[in-house]
Amino acid sequence: MPELPEVETVKNTLKKHVLGKKIISVDVFYNMIDKPDIETFKKLVKNQTIIDIKRRGKFLMFELDDYYLLSHLRMEGKYFIDGSITRHDHVIFHFDKGFLKYNDTRKFGRMYLVEKDKVYMEKPLSCLGLEPWDTNLTSDYLMEKLKNKRLPIKSILLDQSIITGIGNIYADEILFKSNINPLKKGNNINLTESNNIIKYTRDILERAIKLGGTTIKSYESSRGVHGRFQNNLLVHNHEGDKCPNCNSIIIKIKINGRGTYYCPKCQK
Ligand SMILES: [Zn+2]
Repeated sequence: MPELPEVETVKNTLKKHVLGKKIISVDVFYNMIDKPDIETFKKLVKNQTIIDIKRRGKFLMFELDDYYLLSHLRMEGKYFIDGSITRHDHVIFHFDKGFLKYNDTRKFGRMYLVEKDKVYMEKPLSCLGLEPWDTNLTSDYLMEKLKNKRLPIKSILLDQSIITGIGNIYADEILFKSNINPLKKGNNINLTESNNIIKYTRDILERAIKLGGTTIKSYESSRGVHGRFQNNLLVHNHEGDKCPNCNSIIIKIKINGRGTYYCPKCQK
């Protein structure tokens, strides 16, 4: 599943190819459009130029003349700017030369078209918490958010309304580096742990962006850019392997249905 570093990589790759392109028409073969309805969507994006591409949390934000086209890749969403049309290509933006196609084998991805000046005030972006590098993300902020939460810290890190952009892979890595048991309840996290979560969130995501993200399962960014961060994962997907710190065996449990990997000794 693409997480923040993967979405950042897709954004940077697409920027090299589609900035300045004018959308002449759109084909929607499967409805991934959350709002507005398909016909309005097709009408509104027609003749709009892609001015910029930004990212907020795990959303790609295509800045058009009058709108933002928001795209969430969810499990398997991918963009391609070449190749032939296949049955998993669901939305195709045609330019006067070339196209941008959205491909999604699982069909979980979503798109939204929102007026530019309302983009941060309306759903889905209005529900998002702080970006990992936001200066407002402090241990005080995090402690305040955690103080009444009895959920496992792993689930809280996946809740995009507190810190946005952390997914299942990186949450495991952040908690390992912070020496925190993923089942520990939010309201039991202390100030040092809160500081460590913020420190390692930034540290790990920055390194992952530098390496182009991971390529676990079928994630790949457009143009076949493959991330190399999967080689740097310390606990995620390492069930049965030795902990790099203490040589204990890394175990896998499920928290809220999500596979969670940790070292039982380092993360008591
Ligand atoms: Zn260990």
